[in-house]
Amino acid sequence: MPKANVKTAAGPAKDIQIVIAGAGGFIGGSLAAYFKAQGFTRIRAVDKKPLSDWYQRVPGVECLCLDLSQEANCKRAVEGAIEVYQLAADMGGMGFIERFRIECLRSVLINTHMIESAYKAGCRRYFYSSSACVYNTDLQKDPKVRALKESDAYPAMSERGYGWEKLISEMFCQEYWAERGMKTFIARFHNVYGPWGTWTGGREKAPAAICRKVIEAIDTGSGRIEIWGDGTRTRSFMYIDDCVKGIDRITHTDALIATPINLGTSELVSINELVTIVEGIAGVKLRRSYDLDAPKGVGGRNSDNTFIRKVLGWEPDTPLRTGLKKTHAWIKSQYELKKAGKKTVD
Ligand code: NAD
Repeated sequence: MPKANVKTAAGPAKDIQIVIAGAGGFIGGSLAAYFKAQGFTRIRAVDKKPLSDWYQRVPGVECLCLDLSQEANCKRAVEGAIEVYQLAADMGGMGFIERFRIECLRSVLINTHMIESAYKAGCRRYFYSSSACVYNTDLQKDPKVRALKESDAYPAMSERGYGWEKLISEMFCQEYWAERGMKTFIARFHNVYGPWGTWTGGREKAPAAICRKVIEAIDTGSGRIEIWGDGTRTRSFMYIDDCVKGIDRITHTDALIATPINLGTSELVSINELVTIVEGIAGVKLRRSYDLDAPKGVGGRNSDNTFIRKVLGWEPDTPLRTGLKKTHAWIKSQYELKKAGKKTVD
């Protein structure tokens, strides 16, 4: 198929072929919905899960079920692609990435085949979803952590498994630009949460897990909540709408070619504070117990947003309480569907 006119004065032409890998999951599905709402007409969503398990199916978006750790499937996925958004990965919250390091490392197969296939297909812009887990863990021991700036990834001492895989895949992106001239864009996400994210089953992250536990405590009348770790660890959390907006802005800014950039908020909270916010939203006060043997991750992690403010004149800005209110309402509706024996996102 002939390639579309790639750019108009208002940004990329609406009929370019966009490919989103990992679109059956949380962020990829939300990105497909975002581009559809922007008026793009040729969006291809790809994921290895059967269609019935996709979190979101966006009307008018082509959906393909392909295992992208296989080279032939990557070639099929990116046929005719002008822009590729690579979000497919075997991942989850701390409960997953601390226990299944091999699965995390094997995502390098997806990234290796996807970028080569995109390059061969003539892709003009390639986005890669990296993570704050690439940062040197020695800088993240204290809950009162200094916010991490982009240069803090080196000297490298990433999160074992997941973080190292992300770091090497970032390097692929940088070399495809340096050696072969394909424009690549790399965002380091800091804890994304919101509706349509995993909320149960073992791969969920802290905001979703806490919303669910508070809902359960009210529903069962237990009046208590179990928290992983001692509650003092700190993180920042980015609402999904900011994440997809940020992906779009980063991928369409030539100043960021092959340049990793933080995509997160700098609103640092402890896990105890997160629980307090969700309790406030749900109108409840629970007795807390702490599981000190549960997976907990680094002591503290925050995003230094100096660079993104400078380049984009913008940073993720949804207040945590606002985003959590929407997330809590969505998880409550999922919880009720599940209780009624209906199909849910999980
Ligand atoms: P997700 O698990 O909801 O989505 C990932 C999707 O990739 C899943 O639907 C999965 O089926 C798919 N996938 C896995 N292996 C595949 C394969 N071999 N072929 C095709 N599809 C495959 O995760 P998410 O939260 O939407 O994360 C998207 C990306 O962002 C991932 O690369 C993740 O590492 C990165 N990231 C996410 C966060 C976060 O807080 N959610 C933080 C940092 C980085």
